[in-house]
Amino acid sequence: MSAPRSALVTGGAGFIGSHLADHLIERGYAVTVLDNLATGRAADVPDGATFVEGDVRNPEHVDRAFAGGIDVVCHLAGQASIRRAWDDPGADLSVNVLGTLNIIAGCRRHHTNRLLYASSMTVYGNPTAIPTPEGADIAPVSCYGITKYAGERYVMLAGAEGDPRLDVTAFRMFNVYGPRQSLTNPYQGVLAIFLGNVLRGEPVCIHSDGEQSRDFVFVGDVCRAWCDAIDTPGTVGRVFNLGSGRDTSVNALCDAVLARVGATRQSYDISSAPAQPGDIRRSVADVSDIGRTLGWAPQVDLDGGMSATVRWAQTAVEEQAG
Ligand code: NAD
Repeated sequence: MSAPRSALVTGGAGFIGSHLADHLIERGYAVTVLDNLATGRAADVPDGATFVEGDVRNPEHVDRAFAGGIDVVCHLAGQASIRRAWDDPGADLSVNVLGTLNIIAGCRRHHTNRLLYASSMTVYGNPTAIPTPEGADIAPVSCYGITKYAGERYVMLAGAEGDPRLDVTAFRMFNVYGPRQSLTNPYQGVLAIFLGNVLRGEPVCIHSDGEQSRDFVFVGDVCRAWCDAIDTPGTVGRVFNLGSGRDTSVNALCDAVLARVGATRQSYDISSAPAQPGDIRRSVADVSDIGRTLGWAPQVDLDGGMSATVRWAQTAVEEQAG
């Protein structure tokens, strides 16, 4: 594998994609972003990137994004909300699966031979092993989990078959959090939802009994793994978990967010609601594979990552209010 220098980040106006675009620019890549701004913000596309506003479901838009010549594609454009997928499974299917097929076809048409894909821990459904290794059963229990897995399989198949050669890697990301995650979108990112509620003085809603757990991984750690993987031959044809390896209950997360404003679950306005469809009880990644292959380990713990996120969120909420 030769060292690629130009990168296309689909979904690069979104939460994870905009950070990844920043990291790639820092590493010397010429970055193009393809995004239709469904949930992303043009303001979050880094100044140094070329922005193509377009839809991954449209092959002509995809061709425009590849036009300057692309060495590596990081495909993050997607319908990222479990709840929205239940409401409109057809739309979720078309963005996450047809969009991914279009990106694979774009790689073939434009002779790009490196593709990295944003998969999800939701492919495991209710995991049969905790912490969950990549070899655990695949049994998604949400429409979103099904489409993320279909996209993953199409990407892995494209890596195994076809001409010209396509070197592929997929990351099953767990709960990624950090600055720029939407504070106003009630459909994705539990930490950002809680933080937005608390900073605006709104009630916080906890689904189920709050003892369900998630593996929260900081966005900067995630981007480091994506960037390091590009030039690491051992990652080709492989799927990796990307999580912190620790689980935190939703109640404990809520406590940690409230502590930032000197409140507790007893003193704050907390409401409860039934479990959401497809809710997983316990989720924690086994990250030994990526540790062995890439020498990757998370560097930012929940406390440090939360501090960085709160600092950013306080400014963002003040800007939105004023
Ligand atoms: P996000 O909603 O902030 O980012 C998704 C981006 O894709 C947005 O900028 C959106 O405008 C863009 N987009 C959506 N549909 C598009 C289309 N048809 N054409 C072009 N662009 C389109 O969400 P995120 O949290 O940054 O997620 C990024 C990717 O990572 C998604 O594919 C998501 O499924 C995956 N993922 C996220 C997490 C997480 O914890 N955030 C975990 C696992 C996987």
